[in-house]
This record gives sequence, C-alpha cells and structure tokens, in this order.
Amino acid sequence: MVELPSKSPALIVDIHTHLYPPSYVDLLSSRKTVPYIYKPPDGSDPRLIILPSDDDVSKPPASRGRPIDSSYSSLDVKRAFMTQHNIAISVISLANPWLDFLDPSSAPSIARTINDDLQSSCSNFNRSNSDQKLYAFGTLPLSAPPAAVIAEITRLKSLPNIKGIIMGTTGLGAGLDNPALDPIYSALELTSTLIFLHPHYGLPAASFGGESSLSRTGHVLPLALGFPLETTIAITRAFLAGVFDRYPSLQILLAHSGGTLPFLAGRIQSCVAHEREFTANGGEKPGPVRDIWDVLKKNIYLDAVIYGEPGLKAAVDASSHDRVMFGTDHPFFPPLKDPAGRWESVDTNLKAIEGAIWSERVTRGILGGNAVRVLGLEV
Ligand code: URA
Ligand code: ZN
Repeated sequence: MVELPSKSPALIVDIHTHLYPPSYVDLLSSRKTVPYIYKPPDGSDPRLIILPSDDDVSKPPASRGRPIDSSYSSLDVKRAFMTQHNIAISVISLANPWLDFLDPSSAPSIARTINDDLQSSCSNFNRSNSDQKLYAFGTLPLSAPPAAVIAEITRLKSLPNIKGIIMGTTGLGAGLDNPALDPIYSALELTSTLIFLHPHYGLPAASFGGESSLSRTGHVLPLALGFPLETTIAITRAFLAGVFDRYPSLQILLAHSGGTLPFLAGRIQSCVAHEREFTANGGEKPGPVRDIWDVLKKNIYLDAVIYGEPGLKAAVDASSHDRVMFGTDHPFFPPLKDPAGRWESVDTNLKAIEGAIWSERVTRGILGGNAVRVLGLEV
C-alpha cells in the first residue's frame, strides 16, 4: 500500500493489535456485570459489553455493546489479517479492560495464566510461520498488592516474546499520579519494561450530553473523544506529579498517538510555567521539574493510530520521527461494508504515513524500523 521510492517493500510492524485469549473470553463470559460477554438467548451473536457506555440499560442486552466474533480471540484470524495487510510482525496485547476488575486474590494467578498463554501463543505462531512473527505486551495484576505486581513485572523478563506491558489509565485504580504506583514505576524502570498506556474508561457520560445523546450517536463520542482525552489526562497527571522527575528512564508508549498530548503539550507547559502554586514560581506545591517537551522526546513513544496527516505530523513533531510506530487497533474498527476486504481503518493510517512525505528512512522507521529497534524484535 505505501509506495516507497526504492520500491522494495517496507517491513510493517503492528504494535497496537489486541487479542483476548480464550481464557479471558471465558472469564468475561462468566460475568453478568461490566465487563462481560452476553450470549443472547435467541442464539444471535454474543455481545461484548466492556465500555462503561456500552451498558445502556435502556437498550435490550442483545443490542448493547458490539458483536464479538473469532477476530477477538483467534490467532488464525490474526494471521490472516496480517497477511492481508502485509504486516510482518505483530505485538499483540490484551484489550481493555485487562485485569483491572479482578479481585486482589485472583488477579496474580490469572495474570500469570494470561501472560503464559501469550508467550506460548507467540512461540507456537513463530514456529509454524516463517514469514510472520508474533510478540506480545504482557498484562499486570494491578488490583493485587504491589509485591504481586512487581513479582509479575520481574517474571515477565523471563518470557522471551513479551516486550513490555499494557496498562490502563487508572493504574492501581486512582490514576497515574497515585504515589502508591511509585514502587511499580521503579520496578518498570529498573527492568527497562516499556508501558503501553491504553484508554478504557473514557469520560463521564454527562460530558457527552448524557445517555440520550449517547444512544443517538453510539460509540462515536466515547471512542473518538473520550479515549484520547482520557489518555491525555492520565499522562498529564503523571507528568504534573513528577513521575518523570523521579523515574527519568521510564518508557511509555501512548495509544492513539498520545490522545491530544502532541497538540496540547505547549499549552500544558505554558500553564505549568504560569502556575503560582508551584515552587518554581514561589508557591508551595512541587510541580514538575522537567519540561513536557523533554519528556516527550526522552520518555514517550507514540503509535501512529490517528487516522489523519495533521495528527500524525503533530505526533512526529512532538516526540520525533524515531519514536512513532505503526499500529492497527485490530480487531476494533473492522470494515462494515465489505467484511472480507482490506480494512479502511488500517489504510487510513497507512495513507497518513504515506501522505506526510518524509524521507524514505523516516517512513520505514514509522512503519516498522522504530518498533524493531525500540522493542528489540528479531526480524
Ligand atoms: N479500541 C480498543 O482498543 N478498545 C475499544 O474498546 C475500542 C477501540
Ligand atoms: Zn487499542
């Protein structure tokens, strides 16, 4: 799809692609409250009800959320999707809401099972495939006591295909500025574990006009605006709490090109510079020491899942061309008109990369080279 001057095809690596392993599908199917998978008694497709806005009680259960099919859990479907879109390497991750909802006692063993599942899925896939490869981001038992979370961070280092962890924006439940996260940030920094930060909780329904507005407009407001703003707020709260001052080597990959962070970074920095409460300006509250632009260039990676040139250019400008990486968000946003065709959501992102007209070296980096270097993938 992307035409390069030298005509040799680019290596495409997908760093944002989800899989709900069968054990996780079973877990969601066994539940009756969000998150859950609902099997309508009339035998129609099961429904995935994971976003808070999906659980609209005014709708019959069989039309809440979205249909869930094998594309959410099957490695054969993932392989076919990769083949169809010339993706050589995928770094799969459990999708939202990960293990955030588990009780503290069951979370550690479920995290181990899922991470072992991901590791063996990758190695089986790679053994049976010569031209495609699978890696994964692991998942953490964040509702468990910190010692259990740290034990899993350490254990993941012994699983060769696990290249980081995916985490939601609430961290341990109270946001990324929660001081209780410090030992976990410390372990992630010490083990050089990349965090893939992904939204799930969105904004309150009231921000979008409440349930009546949402029932008219479906997933558009929560996904188009709620997700990116959630990511922006989460990472900005971490920044303001001095997380990057205390953990200067922490590495975080932000989903959806950082939400609106690349666009708003200047405003964030200006508000910090003008905040009288911060000690740098004579106040009593610490405030961040490092500049947001410095953090963007040294601690933040961004995916290229932004569906347009202006957003992609902002991502590259704010972080740098060697910190932005292609992704698809598969199995979300499938083509609705031609289910067997190429995915418009994928092609829109490829078109933005192609349309931005960088040098061939930069384009190849965003399509795959950066991911290979940053995650240490074998090609
Ligand atoms: N993309 C995701 O990763 N999750 C959703 O719920 C929707 C889109
Ligand atoms: Zn995603």
